[in-house]
Amino acid sequence: MAQTCQSCGNVQQPPRPRCIACHGTDLTWRDAPATGTVHSWTVVEHQINPHFPAPYTVLLVDVAVPGATHPVRYLGHVPGRTEPAVGDAVRLVFEDLAEGVTIPNWVLDD
Ligand SMILES: [Zn+2]
Repeated sequence: MAQTCQSCGNVQQPPRPRCIACHGTDLTWRDAPATGTVHSWTVVEHQINPHFPAPYTVLLVDVAVPGATHPVRYLGHVPGRTEPAVGDAVRLVFEDLAEGVTIPNWVLDD
């Protein structure tokens, strides 16, 4: 999903209480594709959260949300030291981190 301003049509990520374009509060959600492309990436070598053992590769993913005037960017991660190319295809998955805790994430398409 992608947060969308009903007043001006801006699509923003991450979600916020106000539109970053017009400061409106009439925000809603629109469907987003479950596919994207790698915009950038980096490897995290120091563990910060016990659910994400280091090393892991953080992905910044561009998603072409219908109606958006720009790619909408989402974060994700893949285990280990991966070296994706900018523009590599990714697809959305949902990962169970703990009981009752599920997060959206991306996997590189082969
Ligand atoms: Zn707006």
